[in-house]
Amino acid sequence: FVLRGRRCSSSVPASVCASAPSGHAREQEDEQSLVVVGGGAAGVYASIRAKTLAPHLNVVVIEKGKFLSKVKISGGGRCNVTNGHHLEPSGLARNYPRGYKELRGSFFRTHGPQDTMHWFSDHGVELKTEEDGRVFPVTDNSASVVDCLLNEARRLGVSLQAGKSVSGASVDANGKFVVKVEKRTIDFVDYISANYVLVATGSSQQGYSFAAQHGHSIIPPVPSLFTFKIADKRLADLSGVSFTRVTAKLMLDGIQKSAPELTQTGPMLVTHWGLSGPVVLRLSAWGARELYQDKYQAKLVVDFIPDIHIEDVKRILFQHKDQHAEEQSK
Ligand SMILES: Cc1cc2nc3c(=O)[nH]c(=O)nc-3n(C[C@H](O)[C@H](O)[C@H](O)COP(=O)(O)OP(=O)(O)OC[C@H]3O[C@@H](n4cnc5c(N)ncnc54)[C@H](O)[C@@H]3O)c2cc1C
Repeated sequence: FVLRGRRCSSSVPASVCASAPSGHAREQEDEQSLVVVGGGAAGVYASIRAKTLAPHLNVVVIEKGKFLSKVKISGGGRCNVTNGHHLEPSGLARNYPRGYKELRGSFFRTHGPQDTMHWFSDHGVELKTEEDGRVFPVTDNSASVVDCLLNEARRLGVSLQAGKSVSGASVDANGKFVVKVEKRTIDFVDYISANYVLVATGSSQQGYSFAAQHGHSIIPPVPSLFTFKIADKRLADLSGVSFTRVTAKLMLDGIQKSAPELTQTGPMLVTHWGLSGPVVLRLSAWGARELYQDKYQAKLVVDFIPDIHIEDVKRILFQHKDQHAEEQSK
């Protein structure tokens, strides 16, 4: 999210960088400051990047909870750092449900998976790529990633302030941002003056409000990457059973039958409330907006044996039947 003072106009995805109007931003670099709102992966990495590119910039990260708490639990506690199979920006962007144009154009070209892997290995985190393309630290522990990012931020002189929440940001008469910082636990209010503000608050509604206040237009977010709740008695007894490879097709109102992303192949898991696993999560992501529009009512067609032709299935079943009959008659 890049905010340009009062003049910004772009739509906003996840983090917003605001700069004070240009007429007032002609101070020396060593007098300038950046306040990063939110100490998740985006905020902490952005602070490192800012300090690397502009060593004299004062960089402060304000985090209302604990730094990198989501990174810590990511990837089942191992932190899937990037994708090692889709190294080309366009291939990678194509696998994102939305934002193909934006990701291909600006982000992945300057900071693709290979750059990410190089960055971590240059900073002492050895990585491994698993068969399915997921890239993890060899320690299989997200703490390696968390420690690396926080140590690097501290080494560069980033001020990391946890337990404080940004509750507002305005622009003063000199065109500088005035960032209001509060502590939840005690009666504490502070105002930080900043030339630049980067809003990296993840999915927080407050972050979207900051962005909107400073001129960004927001595309309302909807849930994505969720499991399916299915009230079907036939699934109840299968709870806990996993399938290594199924093909599942999500049929939604108003969607062309040919939408290829709404058919997915891969592992699937039966849960006590419905279905889960990579296939289901991918379908929820590709169909997120339509599922929301259709109030989460849809038809799911699952082929449990996608690699075997129906005639071969029949033949195998008949063979088994014959064998079984012979065994019984012995
Ligand atoms: C269970 C799970 C597993 C995941 N596994 C992976 C994985 O293996 N690999 C992967 O790449 N991604 C994974 N993800 C996704 C990944 O965790 C997120 O995409 C990523 O953490 C988003 O980072 P962020 O910095 O944008 O937002 P967040 O991590 O949400 O950080 C935003 C921060 O802003 C703070 N904040 C909000 N409002 C304010 C405020 N007003 N003032 C101060 N601070 C504020 C919040 O406390 C928060 O710490 C996983 C997510 C989940 C939930």
